[in-house]
Amino acid sequence: MEIVSVIPRGYCQGVVRAIRIAASTAKEYPDQKIYMLGMIVHNAYVVEACKQIGIRFIEDPGKTRLELLDEIDEGVVIFTAHGVSDAVRKKAEDKNLIVVDATCPDVIKTHDLVKEHSAIGHVLYIGKKNHPEAEGTTGLSERIHLISNKEDLQELPDYENVLITTQTTLSLLDTQDLLSACLEKYPDAKVMQEICNATRIRQEAVMKLKDTDLLIVVGDPRSNNSRQLAETGKRVGIKDCILIENVNELTESAVKDKKRIAVTSGSSTPNELTAQVISFLKTYAENGIWDLPQTINRPVL
Ligand code: SF4
Repeated sequence: MEIVSVIPRGYCQGVVRAIRIAASTAKEYPDQKIYMLGMIVHNAYVVEACKQIGIRFIEDPGKTRLELLDEIDEGVVIFTAHGVSDAVRKKAEDKNLIVVDATCPDVIKTHDLVKEHSAIGHVLYIGKKNHPEAEGTTGLSERIHLISNKEDLQELPDYENVLITTQTTLSLLDTQDLLSACLEKYPDAKVMQEICNATRIRQEAVMKLKDTDLLIVVGDPRSNNSRQLAETGKRVGIKDCILIENVNELTESAVKDKKRIAVTSGSSTPNELTAQVISFLKTYAENGIWDLPQTINRPVL
């Protein structure tokens, strides 16, 4: 049995930056209540590590970030790497909260692009419904239209001067279908794909895997980019692709008899979790003994 550690994998620069900002904010404001508006990244272990240093999370999947702000009346609010709309920023300032912005520079780049174009035309933003990044970006102007499926396109009139762009963490392969559908309806539209480099190179590394029987993606099931990696594996023909949160979700039946197993992880997954999976599998490949660890290696901020 061969265990392949896919490279690159794991934390992207935007996530590392957001985690650093959260940790330094906790040090800088020891006497203030510090709130994170939504999950810092979609990973339960990172959220837990932030709680350990005193950060409180305001999270409700049924509410927008603008609504979530109603639950904060004082202290510090941190915007996550996913970014927020101008309305959220203004509301936080109007409430006299100390604002700390951990928006990823790649998301800011997309914000600048769609703001500029929505002043002169319309933007079709290919993204996921209810995802915080899509909420923040489409909230920047009424002329930015979220396209999550082909039905969303049917509802739109024949706009002039259209720009088609994307959420940063989409699947390279899946986005192509929606992009083609958008271009069919708006053949003169400009296209600016904004899938970020970190997302792109992690998916491309999976696409290049050869003769792999099993792809294991370590990541939280709520993490869009982790799910996309597993989907990418399926789309390029890897027979078995599984998403696990930690080493204890591995089963011997999934692994046994596989000749080549590749392991990767989403850009929100701490290295500690992935390293533990790889190390366990390498030991199993050597001695054939299925002996899962008693404790999970957790990230510490
Ligand atoms: S996945 Fe891309 S856009 Fe999202 S935080 Fe990482 S680098 Fe930034």
